[in-house]
Amino acid sequence: GRSFRPEGTKITFPNGVVVGGEEVVVMAGPCSVESKDQILLSAQQVAAAGAKFLRGGAFKPRSSPYSFQGMGLEGLKLLREVADQTNLLVITEVMEISQIELMLPYIDCFQVGARNMQNFNLLRELGYIRKPVLMKRGIAATIEEVLLSAEYILSGGNYDLMLCERGIRTYETYTRNTMDISAIPVLKKLTHLPVFGDPSHGVGIRDLVPPMALASVAAGADGLLMEMHPNPDKAMSDGAQSLFPAQLEKLMAQLRQLAPVV
Ligand code: PEP
Ligand code: MN
Repeated sequence: GRSFRPEGTKITFPNGVVVGGEEVVVMAGPCSVESKDQILLSAQQVAAAGAKFLRGGAFKPRSSPYSFQGMGLEGLKLLREVADQTNLLVITEVMEISQIELMLPYIDCFQVGARNMQNFNLLRELGYIRKPVLMKRGIAATIEEVLLSAEYILSGGNYDLMLCERGIRTYETYTRNTMDISAIPVLKKLTHLPVFGDPSHGVGIRDLVPPMALASVAAGADGLLMEMHPNPDKAMSDGAQSLFPAQLEKLMAQLRQLAPVV
């Protein structure tokens, strides 16, 4: 609850970036790590846009078992290598308990995906480590379910937790999901945790990402998680919702009209 820490939780990362402070923190990059060239170029473009976190999945939760499943350990190594070259932090998704140990040396933040928000055994283990976690809202999770899942991590003693609205499934099919902007102020009111918006998965359509990113920040988001690809038309996953690098640069400038952004 908010009363536990009325001033809100602040998370300080190794390069001095603070989540939950004055600045809105942008985490950007491709849906998946695909190759050395692709992730290096992505990192350079994310850094050039002024963001401080590189995202990219090495373990991918794909709807079809026949779709690209991610590069695994090789992807983690590439993330760390290119992030160090470009002075970025790394956030990437953990899908199962056995990956936690493997990932720890390579990453700065664990991402729990929407599909695993109710993988309670995984959440419990993430409570025992001492590395920040960003937990996404489940595809059809109520706010109360989000809060109880967060409690699995917090009750293990890991308070470096961020929540993320990434759209929920409704009857509307025009957008991939329905981005519940109201979840942002609701979670800010009910918890002491930093709250992120992920407009990429929220809408699934590239050109709708900037307005929903701006809306998230206007609604009080502490940060944004967004997909950007050097060549979205060639992306191995989520190309249709991935920003072109120039779109990210432009969006960063627009966001700075609302709040200080890193
Ligand atoms: C992702 O961030 O690429 C992802 C798989 O997101 P979600 O878990 O929100 O679907
Ligand atoms: Mn994705």
